[in-house]
Amino acid sequence: MSDCGCDCGCNDVQSKEQESNLLECPTCGEEGKGVPFDVIKTFINKDLRRDITNGEFYICLNSKCKTAYYNKNGDYLFSINGIQKPIWFKEGSKPKIACYCNDITYEQVKKAVNQYDLRSWKEIVLHYNEKIICKCSKLNPTGECCSDNFNKVIDRF
Ligand SMILES: [Zn+2]
Repeated sequence: MSDCGCDCGCNDVQSKEQESNLLECPTCGEEGKGVPFDVIKTFINKDLRRDITNGEFYICLNSKCKTAYYNKNGDYLFSINGIQKPIWFKEGSKPKIACYCNDITYEQVKKAVNQYDLRSWKEIVLHYNEKIICKCSKLNPTGECCSDNFNKVIDRF
């Protein structure tokens, strides 16, 4: 992954291991990508979280598949309806979230671009929030930096 331009150093944290760690989704058969265990702790409902021990988890990247996360041994499979926040690239997700760390939706990005002519992740986050939070490895559903997709969202409007 190239420089995401968010300036917080989250790119450095992302391991090469994560990038190449792939496993087929048991539901749709497409390759999903490994996620840090912190992401699982953030996205799984509290009552389920208790009996999950550390382990290798993956996210299904297929927009049409209803499976969100699964693990290597096949003990766990979480559907998109059983998690805390919608995953932006899944079909029908609502609201569409552009930045998970700072809770910015696609609608908010659209407004910032159209009404205030803001064109960067930083400007838009600071338009809505007092300060910038960047904990993508924990708060983004893929564990990767929010700003990559965020910039794509900006370009759409
Ligand atoms: Zn799937």
